[in-house]
This record gives sequence, structure tokens and C-alpha cells, in this order.
Amino acid sequence: MSSNEQTPRITVVGYGSQGRAHAMNLRDSGFDVTVGLRPGGPTEVQAKADGFEVRPPADAVREADLVAVLTPDMVQKKLYEEVLAPNMKQGACLLFAHGLNVHFNMIAPREDLDVVLVAPKGPGALVRREYEIGRGVPCIWAVYQDKSGHAEQLALTYAGGLGGARANLIQTTFKEETETDLFGEQAVLCGGASALVQAGFETLVEAGYQPEIAYYEVLHELKLIVDLFYEGGITRMLEFISETAQYGDYVSGPRVIDAGTKARMKEVLKDIQDGTFTKNWVAEYEAGLPNYKKYKQADLDHPIEQVGKQLRAKMVWLNGQAAAAQPAGSQRAA
Ligand code: NAD
Ligand code: MG
Repeated sequence: MSSNEQTPRITVVGYGSQGRAHAMNLRDSGFDVTVGLRPGGPTEVQAKADGFEVRPPADAVREADLVAVLTPDMVQKKLYEEVLAPNMKQGACLLFAHGLNVHFNMIAPREDLDVVLVAPKGPGALVRREYEIGRGVPCIWAVYQDKSGHAEQLALTYAGGLGGARANLIQTTFKEETETDLFGEQAVLCGGASALVQAGFETLVEAGYQPEIAYYEVLHELKLIVDLFYEGGITRMLEFISETAQYGDYVSGPRVIDAGTKARMKEVLKDIQDGTFTKNWVAEYEAGLPNYKKYKQADLDHPIEQVGKQLRAKMVWLNGQAAAAQPAGSQRAA
């Protein structure tokens, strides 16, 4: 194996949630890391303050053995066509943290390139924090195109540099990563969970209960439950809740999330698999995000947000966290 495969020179394009964490962990793991960013872009100051050599993407990728594409998914096609494809060196490796553009054929990578995926299963801030304390966030990885014969080794080297090998590395495909990631965030994590909380809040408030109490019940206390899931699955939650809560769980949970919900989850999955979701999302993005902005505003204006803001201001244990928090982007998780 040549020295390139052992310690590839890495350029990270994009310095948001994932980009910052990847660049810092890889540097601390001994890699030579350059950051590619548009001059004057919003994260350039941060990358420079963190001590990186920052260059415009076209320059930054020219000598790289491996280019990690860590910009928002919707700008990657244009970035690849206009900047990466004309400037990456022959035989280099193109790495993604999400398979969307390659899997749905929006990017058709040059034939001389290796193309791999390394997706940490956690937000950038956690990828960095775990690394700093000597641990790591599990990563899933895949090879789409192996021109050099070393693509798998490169993906594993990169995942190791992120700290992922200290936790767990699981091999996947671009198809599986893309479809499961989209499904998770839509049906369960982001879409499903927030809709469940809003509906629960509305149900209590419309029945005349105080919004403050409704907030504590359906949003605030969810953290306790999710922490138990995280630590020991549903088994651990059942160990910690009362018998009354368990009985209510068994008889009422399936009334709320029933076979109809599961059938609609399957429709969501089908739209993801056949490309309908991605086609609609690209059209929405290209139209200037009219519906996205409307939906987002409705979430921000929901009454649970007003009462939540007041109640959280009294949670002294949160104030310290907010002050220490990373910029908004680095908290993004999905
Ligand atoms: P982000 O929005 O936090 O950061 C994007 C970065 O790209 C910023 O530095 C921005 O300035 C820069 N950028 C934007 N347009 C650019 C352009 N045209 N040229 C160069 N730089 C540009 O993005 P993110 O959430 O870190 O997502 C990056 C990738 O990681 C995506 O493919 C995403 O699906 C994937 N991913 C994200 C998470 C997560 O926790 N957020 C988890 C797993 C995978
Ligand atoms: Mg995602």
C-alpha cells in the first residue's frame, strides 16, 4: 500500500455541523486536513479561528487524496459539477456523509475516482465531543465505486480518524444509508416525534388544561423517556416507569400509533424509495423553498413554542448549556 492510502491528504468542503467535527477529529488523528470554503461564507471565520488552512473549494481539492463533501445536500450537485469534477486529481477519493445525491443519480462521479460514504450516526457536536473524551460515535460506511482497489480501506481509515472505530463501524450501501436516513428523520425522529408532541399538547390545551402543564407532560418529560430508550431500550423504560404508566402504555399506545399509522409509514418509505420525495424536495429547493418556509414558520409559531420559551427561561440548568453551545449549525442532527 502506498503512503497515500495510509495517510491520505484530506480536504473537507463545508464547515458546518459535520464538517467542523470531521476536520477537527481527523487533524487530531494525525491527518493533514485542508478546509475548502467559499471566501466570505458564513463558516470561514470559525474554520480559521480553529486553526485550519482555508482555501476556496477549487484550490483546496486540487492536491487532495480524499475530498469529503460536507456541504448541504442540495448544493452538492452543482458543487460537484462546477468545482469538484474539474479540479480533483486523477484517482482521488470522493467521500460523502449522506448518499442522497449519488444514490438518486444527481451526481454521476468521474470513473477514475473512488467513491465512498462514511456517515456518523450522530450530530457533529457529538462526533467532536465523544472524540475529545476518547470515545467515538458509531459510523456506517459504504463503497459505491472502487477504482483503486483501496476504497474500502480509505473509508475505514477515515471512519477511524473520526473516532467511529472506537464505537462501532457497520458496512452499508448508498441505497440503504440514504433510504433509512430519510425514513428515520421523516417518520420517527424529526417529523414523527414533533407531530406527536404537538398533537398531544393541542389535545390537552383544547380540553382546558394549562399550557404550562401540557408542555411539561408531552415535551419536557420526553427527554427522560428517550434517555431510557438510549441507555437500555424499551426494556429499561418499562423498568423505570410505574405499573400504572405501563398499563396505560400497553392499552393506549396502540390506539394512538395503530396499523393505519404503520400503513402510512410504509407510504412514506415508498415515496423515499421510488424517488418521489427527492424529486419533490429538489423542486421545492429550486423554487426558493416557498412551502418549506411556510411549514417552518407554522412550527415556530405553534403555541407550544411560546410557552416553552417562558418555561425554559426558568430552567437554570439549561442556561449554562445554551451559553456553551456550538453555533446553531453544529447542533443539526439529521
Ligand atoms: P451544514 O448546513 O451544517 O454545513 C454546511 C457547510 O457547507 C457550511 O460550512 C456552509 O458554509 C458550507 N457551504 C454551503 N454551500 C456551500 C458551497 N456551495 N460551497 C462550499 N461550501 C458550502 O451541513 P451538515 O448538516 O453538516 O451536512 C453536511 C452533510 O452531512 C450532508 O450531506 C448531510 O446530509 C450529512 N449529515 C449530516 C448530519 C448532521 O448531523 N447534521 C449527520 C449525518 C450526515
Ligand atoms: Mg439525514
